[in-house]
Amino acid sequence: MRTILIAGNWKMNMGPKETADFFGQLDDDAQKNIEGVDAAVCPPFVSLSAAFSARKSGSAVKIGAQNVHFEDNGAFTGEISTAMLKELGCDFVILGHSERREYFGEDDAVVNKKVKKALAEGITPIVCVGEVLQERKEDRHFDVVKGQTAGSLDGLTADDLTKIVIAYEPVWAIGTGETATPEQAQEMHAFIREQLSQLFSEEAAATVRILYGGSMKPGNADELLRQPDVDGGLIGGASLKPADFSQLVDIAAGQK
Ligand code: PEP
Repeated sequence: MRTILIAGNWKMNMGPKETADFFGQLDDDAQKNIEGVDAAVCPPFVSLSAAFSARKSGSAVKIGAQNVHFEDNGAFTGEISTAMLKELGCDFVILGHSERREYFGEDDAVVNKKVKKALAEGITPIVCVGEVLQERKEDRHFDVVKGQTAGSLDGLTADDLTKIVIAYEPVWAIGTGETATPEQAQEMHAFIREQLSQLFSEEAAATVRILYGGSMKPGNADELLRQPDVDGGLIGGASLKPADFSQLVDIAAGQK
């Protein structure tokens, strides 16, 4: 079945020194190769090298980035290419996070170009979708997520789909301490999987990991991860502390 993925999104936190400290303090158990569980952290760009250097040899914790540009290279001041991430050894890149959509104007068309570029480079995109509170209150959350999913994955093949990860992150639950209930998460994850099955194929949709994101922490992870269509977590705040991150990996390991 689908391997659970516990992925930390460090956002604009953790410089190179703190990143090295994180890996220094991370429990050996959390770095073991655990059957049925993948673990990853996504530090800021400037801390990626520190993460690769500080990660113990043999550690199973994967490393990813939080964004990337869709062009190969050239006059794009301040941007980073997929080839640069690949050269470092990044396995994942988070794309279309709600903070990128809200503060940096990224729309589905831009996310779509980035997804295609990451796939072409062999980096697994973690594609984020999710509604804001008003949209849920107006009962538009399914339509919003459907539109974001279709737009972000436009033009992909069923084979491409098997190489991506989706993260459902209700924006009202990100960094707020408020979590979707396990039932709300399951309902939306099943809805997304059904949509993927219609857009691509049932077989491909069955292989895609759909992570939940939004104030996931050791205290609520177990119930969320127990849901049949919740295949892991994209975790912000709780992924910054080695002890919490280890506990999340441990909880994931207990699911299998
Ligand atoms: C996120 O930013 O992807 C996230 C889920 O953050 P938090 O866990 O802090 O809500």
